[in-house]
Parts: sequence; structure tokens; C-alpha cells
Amino acid sequence: MDFAEAQKEALGCVKCGLCHSRTQVVFGEGPLNSELFIVGEAPGFNEDKEGRPFQGASGMLFDRLLDSIGLGRGKVYSTTLVKCRPPGSPPRSPRPSEVSHCRAYLMSQISAVDPKVVLALGEMASRILTGKKDPLSRIRGRAIPLDGRYIVPTFSLVKALYVPADRDMLVSDFSRLPELLEAERPSTYDTLNVLATPSADREPIQPGLW
Ligand code: SF4
Repeated sequence: MDFAEAQKEALGCVKCGLCHSRTQVVFGEGPLNSELFIVGEAPGFNEDKEGRPFQGASGMLFDRLLDSIGLGRGKVYSTTLVKCRPPGSPPRSPRPSEVSHCRAYLMSQISAVDPKVVLALGEMASRILTGKKDPLSRIRGRAIPLDGRYIVPTFSLVKALYVPADRDMLVSDFSRLPELLEAERPSTYDTLNVLATPSADREPIQPGLW
């Protein structure tokens, strides 16, 4: 399914039960030539209302984080694992079957954008996009090569809003993105641990290092 077909189908999708809790589908937004692709878990109340990913307090944090690395929303593609708001207040996490039903849309988006770096926000997005079962605490901040791009797991915006220590680490993970965006695409499956050495002491990433 190409991007246009995916978008058209998703906007009227009833493939899983989340079609009953949404008021509108939040497909995602951003230029299709973005080098950075950011994936959250699911739309919440504000996203469902606006029809755009990362709104409300999370959206303000998102904008500040992007500003801090010299990127605005207009330069990244942002979306979520599932495109419809789960029920509940706060909304519950999407179920594995719901993520699975929505997966084809996400895959079409990644394939169309073909980003160099995919930032996975939160435990669920990190697990699904890396294919790893490790807890987020173990893989957070690493740049994991997969299919010619780097997957970078980090904390969710919502968690970072309430836990200052997580917010500090999220800021730190964002600060390393420009370096990865400048690097060559990975050609092996070796994990690059960008947290191993403090930024100032780290050798610049060299093409062919991995
Ligand atoms: S979450 Fe995805 S699969 Fe489920 S109804 Fe919405 S668009 Fe369809």
C-alpha cells in the first residue's frame, strides 16, 4: 500500500475497535522528505480534537525540543503507532491487536518518508520499532541500526512532562539527533551507543564507523 492509499484508507478506517473512541483519525503530518521521523504511542484528547499529532502540553514540549535542535515541525514527520484515540481519561494504551491492525499505515509512512532517523517515544513505540524486548531503560538513547536507518528509543512526552529526570534525559536524547542526522546511514546491524561518552568528549561520528 503506498502512502496516498494508506492515508485515504486510514481516514475512514474501522479495522479495530478504536474507531469507536475517536472523533477523527490522526494520521500524521510532515514533509515526505524528512530525515527525522517521530513516532508516539497514540493520539490523546487534544490530538483527537485537533486532528494533529502532539498537541496540548505534550505538543508544547515537543515544539520546544525540536526548537532546541534547530528543527521545527515543518522539518520532521510525526505520527503515532495507532491513528485513533483509545478510550478512557487518560486514554488507555493501545492493545497489541490494535497496533497490529494499524501497522500497515505506519509502515507505508516510514516507507514513503524513508527517514535516516526514527525517534520512538515511549516503551511501546520503542519495543515495536526496534523489535527488541529489552526494557526502555536498557535501550534508551541508543541509535539502533535497522533497515538502513537509526531507531532511537526514548521516553514518551507525557512521562517527561511529569518526571523531571525523564525530561532531562529526553532533552539529552534530542540533543544527539543532529549528530545522527549528519551521519551516514548505517550499513551494519551494530548498535551505536550514543550515550557511551559525554558529547564533548566523543569523537565525531565518522562515515563507515558502523
Ligand atoms: S487505530 Fe488504526 S486500525 Fe484502528 S481504526 Fe484507527 S486507523 Fe484503523
